[in-house]
Amino acid sequence: MERESNAYNVESKSIVGLGGKPKIAYFSMEIGIDENIPTYSGGLGILAGDTIKSCADLNVPIVGVTLLSENGYFYQKIDENGNQIELPMQFAVSNFLKLLPTTTSVKIEDREIKIRAWYYQYKGVGGYIIPVFFLDSNIEGNADWDRNLTKHLYGGDNKYRLAQEIILGIGGVRMLQTLGYTTIDRYHMNEGHAALGTLELYDQLNDVEKVRQQCVFTTHTPIAAGHDQFDLSYAKPMLGNMFPDFILDDVTFENKLNMTKLALFFSHYVNGVAKKHGEVSRMMFPGYSIESITNGVHSPTWVSEPFQRLFDKHMPGWRSDPYILRATFSIEKNAIWNAHMEAKRELINFVNKRYNIGMNYDDFTIGFARRQTAYKRPELLISDPERLKQIAEKAGPIQIIYAGKAHPKDGTGKESIRKIFEVMKTIQGKIKIAYVHNYDMMIGKKMTAGVDLWLNTPRRPKEASGTSGMKAAHNGVPQFGTLDGWWIEGCIENITGWAIGPEKTEDRESDDEIDRYDLYDKLESWIIPKYYNDRDNWIRTMRSCIAINASFFNTNRMIQQYVLNAYFR
Ligand SMILES: *Cc1c(COP(=O)(O)O)cnc(C)c1O
Repeated sequence: MERESNAYNVESKSIVGLGGKPKIAYFSMEIGIDENIPTYSGGLGILAGDTIKSCADLNVPIVGVTLLSENGYFYQKIDENGNQIELPMQFAVSNFLKLLPTTTSVKIEDREIKIRAWYYQYKGVGGYIIPVFFLDSNIEGNADWDRNLTKHLYGGDNKYRLAQEIILGIGGVRMLQTLGYTTIDRYHMNEGHAALGTLELYDQLNDVEKVRQQCVFTTHTPIAAGHDQFDLSYAKPMLGNMFPDFILDDVTFENKLNMTKLALFFSHYVNGVAKKHGEVSRMMFPGYSIESITNGVHSPTWVSEPFQRLFDKHMPGWRSDPYILRATFSIEKNAIWNAHMEAKRELINFVNKRYNIGMNYDDFTIGFARRQTAYKRPELLISDPERLKQIAEKAGPIQIIYAGKAHPKDGTGKESIRKIFEVMKTIQGKIKIAYVHNYDMMIGKKMTAGVDLWLNTPRRPKEASGTSGMKAAHNGVPQFGTLDGWWIEGCIENITGWAIGPEKTEDRESDDEIDRYDLYDKLESWIIPKYYNDRDNWIRTMRSCIAINASFFNTNRMIQQYVLNAYFR
C-alpha cells in the first residue's frame, strides 16, 4: 500500500489523482483499512475497509468518512486467569494520516465545535485512489469534553455517543462540502451511526424526497440492543434546530430517537447484509422495503502469501476480478496442500513463540476468533471437555486456537474468555489450546489462513452475516458453523464445509444442547476422520471453498451489487 504525501492539493482544495469526481460518500463509525490504524472494533469496520479497497480496485468513485478514534478501540491483554485487561491503543496518527488545513463545525447544545480532518488514501490495483477522511475534534479552542469526542471508539456514555454521531453525520456532510466535493449525490450509511447526516441534507434541501433519493442505508444487526437510540430528553437539546419536529413520530420509539428508524425514513434503498438478515430486518421494521446484499471480504487483503503466489501463477487477474477464483478447480491438490501447510506453519510458529505451547504442524487445528459475546457462543466447543478428550483419543489429535476481544462493558463476553482459560488449564495435556490476545487484522489474517477448520457458532438468527469464514474460504479453510448469516448461502455440506444444528429449511432458533451434540458428533464421525484418513478428499473440500465461496463472497461482487441496486437506481 503506497501513500503519496502530496496527494491533497491545498490550493485547488481537491484531491488530485482521482480518475473521476466522487459520486458516492461512504460513512462509517469505524473503518479497518490498514493494520496500523486501529480505528475498528470488528466486523463492521473491516467490512468498511474492504469495501473501500474494492472500490479502489474497481474504479468506483467513492470517498470514505469516519472518526479519528485517536485511542483506537482498546489493546487487549489477558491475565493468567483469563481476565481481560483493556489498555488504550494510541497510534502515531501523523505517521499514517495527513492533517488537512480545512475545518468545519457542528453545533451541540449551544456550543460550536470545530472539526478538522485527516486524510488517508487507498490506491487500488490499477492505481485508482480512494480518499478517506478521519474527522477530529481535538482542536484548541474546543471545550475539553468536546476535544475528547473523537478519541474513543464505542467508549463513553450515550451523550458521548450521540455527540460522536453528530460529528460523523452532520460534520461529515459539511466536511465533504467544505473540501470542495460538489459532485456527491449518494450518501451510504454503513449502519445507523451516520444517520444524522440525513438531517444536514434535509436542512440544505428542505425536501424529504430529495434527501431519500440521495441516501442508502445498510443495517447490520438483527439484535434490538445493537440499534442506537437516544432519549429525547437530551437528544433534542443536543441537536437543537437540526431536528425537524414533523419527523418525530417516524424516527422515535418509546420516546427515543432511533437511529435505524431515522436512516430508514430518509433512505430510498435499504439492505441487510445476507439473505436471511434481510428477512429478519423486514420483520423487525415492518412497512419498509428492505433488500439484501450479502457481505464479502477484499480478496487480496485476506489471501495469505503462499496462496497469493499460487493464484498469481494459475489465475492472473484474480486480484481485480476474484470471479476468476472459480478456476481453482483446475489447480493440483498437492499445490493447494503445500500452500496451506506454509500458512499453517507460520501460524503455529507464531503461537508457539508467543505462548510456548508446543503445537504441532501436523495436528488437526481448529480456529475460533471473533468478538466475544454471548450470542456467538465462544465456549460451545469446550463446553464438555471430557467429550472433547474422547474425540481426540478416538479420531486423532486436536489443537484449538482462540482469539477475540469482549466489549469492555460486556460482562458475559468477558466471562466466556475466563471460561476458556479455565478449560484450557484442565485439558492442556490432552488438547492444546491457545488464546491469542489482542485480536486484530494481522492476527485475523494469520488465523483464518493457518488453521484447518474455521468454527463459527452463532445462536441463530442473531448473526447478520459474519465475514471471518469468508476469509477462511479464501485460504481453502472450510467452515464448520451454524446455519446463520452468510453461511446459509455458503454451506454446501461436505463440499465447502459443514453445518451445525438445524437444517437450512428449519426456521428454528438455536438450542445449545442440540448444537453441542451435533458439533461433537460431526467432528468425531465426519470431519476429523476425513482430515486424517482421507486427505485427498479433504483437499478437494479445501479447493471447493476457494472455487465456490471465495469467488463469490468477496467485496468486489458485493460492491458491484451496491452500484447497480443501490447507488444508481
Ligand atoms: C474479519 C474480522 C472480524 C469479523 O469477523 P466475524 O466472523 O464477522 O465475527 C472481526 N475482527 C477482526 C479483527 C476481523 O479480521
